[in-house]
Amino acid sequence: MLSGWGRVFGPGREVASEDVEAITRDATLTRGLARSYGDSSLPHPSDGVVASCRLADRILSFDEASGEVKAESGFSLLQLNRTFWGRNFAAPVAPGTQFITLGGMVSADVHGKDHHATGGFGAHVREIRMRLASGDIVTASRTENADLFKATIGGMGLLGHILDVTFKIPRIPSPWVAIETERMPDLESYLAGLKDAAGRFPFTMGWIDTLGAAGKLGRGVLMRGRWADPHEARPGVPQPLQRPGLPFVLPEFAISRMTVAAFNSFYYGIHPSSMRRKVAHPEAFFYPLDAIRNWNLLYGRRGFTQYQCVIPEAAGPEGVKSFVSLLRRTGGSSMVSVIKDCGDEGEGLLSFPMRGTSVAADFPARERVQQIVDTLNGHLIELGGRIYLAKDRFTRAEDYRKMDARIDAWKEVKRRYDPKGRLRSAQSARLELT
Ligand SMILES: Cc1cc2nc3c(=O)[nH]c(=O)nc-3n(C[C@H](O)[C@H](O)[C@H](O)COP(=O)(O)OP(=O)(O)OC[C@H]3O[C@@H](n4cnc5c(N)ncnc54)[C@H](O)[C@@H]3O)c2cc1C
Repeated sequence: MLSGWGRVFGPGREVASEDVEAITRDATLTRGLARSYGDSSLPHPSDGVVASCRLADRILSFDEASGEVKAESGFSLLQLNRTFWGRNFAAPVAPGTQFITLGGMVSADVHGKDHHATGGFGAHVREIRMRLASGDIVTASRTENADLFKATIGGMGLLGHILDVTFKIPRIPSPWVAIETERMPDLESYLAGLKDAAGRFPFTMGWIDTLGAAGKLGRGVLMRGRWADPHEARPGVPQPLQRPGLPFVLPEFAISRMTVAAFNSFYYGIHPSSMRRKVAHPEAFFYPLDAIRNWNLLYGRRGFTQYQCVIPEAAGPEGVKSFVSLLRRTGGSSMVSVIKDCGDEGEGLLSFPMRGTSVAADFPARERVQQIVDTLNGHLIELGGRIYLAKDRFTRAEDYRKMDARIDAWKEVKRRYDPKGRLRSAQSARLELT
């Protein structure tokens, strides 16, 4: 059995090797560290085998003058941080975990706390070397096989097996982060604070309480940050933080509406009411969830899903408010509800972000999960938004189609490079992408 990060299991097995060219020869899907939450990295039920690039993790070249890196697709963000922070370079995007590979970062066009400033990972990629469904190995870039390049960024591994990636990393003044944390009493002030911070800080994000009583709905903790200047930075290079793990899968009663509400009140309460500034360890700021190795055991035997969507700017704060209220009413309330800004849509034909507000909530995959996702999707479609494929497990094909007018253009490229639909996943079958 295999699973994504949400621990929702599907049939199949993984084949991993340092020689990613060899294992992708007959494969119908490749995956990385399986940090996508749902079924994106699970093979189609009739295929049963997925290649893993996670052991193919070498840096092939680095040009210090331009910051251009070429690395194998299994090279992880963790390795990138550990190799480059000490040299005053950083990844061009700041997603919420560092346990992801270049293959996964391209395929999901991952975005981070800096999407409003730097776009998705794809915007920083110059070239991808990949094995197509035909078995041929080709290069895709903005000037060579440009259609393939655009369909591969955010294309969830369905255009080809990514072998290596050439991308740029920016210089940073120091590897420490200067941050400000501020409590926001309700959703309106939270959203206004996010907007204001976006103009001044490269990193913005925060957590909101989706269970607070009427006047408190959406109260939250807003964080903004930037790389610290050398005179502010702590001495030395940040050392890896300790990561204790949960000893076992927690019983399901551990996560209930009552415990989640109590956690939300506690988390809000421990943050001081006035604004706080400090210089933080980059792992603590960028990857708070990575602090517990296997936090995905929290949700019990049946696992969980993360519902992440983006609500377009045109829907305004009222749109976000109506969505968060619905989240509360449906019972899809979570311990870690994250709201952040998204900048402009990128080049990737299926990339998730569009200018607007991203809302993410985790909830247990129990009896009502399908109904909750259907209800949220119904409203999201009315608002003109879309879900993030890397988190999704329960969206229905007919709903997904209504969310993204770009699907036909993506399918056309898919047919060009994979006319028999060889490359596929459990997710692509569910969403009728292949
Ligand atoms: C705690 C946590 C926080 C997260 N925060 C964010 C966030 O802030 N922003 C964000 O964008 N995402 C976030 N994610 C999601 C994560 O970044 C993506 O799901 C990413 O794709 C995972 O990378 P991976 O290497 O684990 O890929 P996998 O999960 O293994 O695979 C993801 C997809 O990429 C494809 N793929 C992977 N490698 C290859 C390859 N070599 N060739 C072809 N296809 C390939 C797979 O087929 C699959 O479709 C988060 C996940 C977790 C667990």
